[in-house]
Amino acid sequence: MYKFKVGDEVQVMAGRDKGKKGKIEKVYKKENKIVIAGVNIYKRHRKVTRTQPAGIYEIARPLSTSTVAIICPKCGKPTRVGFLMEGKIKVRICKKCQGRLAQPKEKK
Ligand SMILES: [Zn+2]
Repeated sequence: MYKFKVGDEVQVMAGRDKGKKGKIEKVYKKENKIVIAGVNIYKRHRKVTRTQPAGIYEIARPLSTSTVAIICPKCGKPTRVGFLMEGKIKVRICKKCQGRLAQPKEKK
């Protein structure tokens, strides 16, 4: 199981966007990188193509997971993710308050 999943609320702990918060849009497990909405934005100038007009596009680039902390929905603090076995199911927990985080297979 991976620590991060799409939809998690996270906070950037280091680097250019330190302190920013956002939701995970994409997870790249192999690279240990995630894309967070509105964070690590780069502007790119694009020429006109058939599908889009010319202009400046803002693209969220992947961030290393090592600089990002999950915000616990229970205690509201940036925290580290722990794992716990509940019967045969492995669940993600907040290391600060031991509260359960959203589980990867749960749907809203
Ligand atoms: Zn917590």
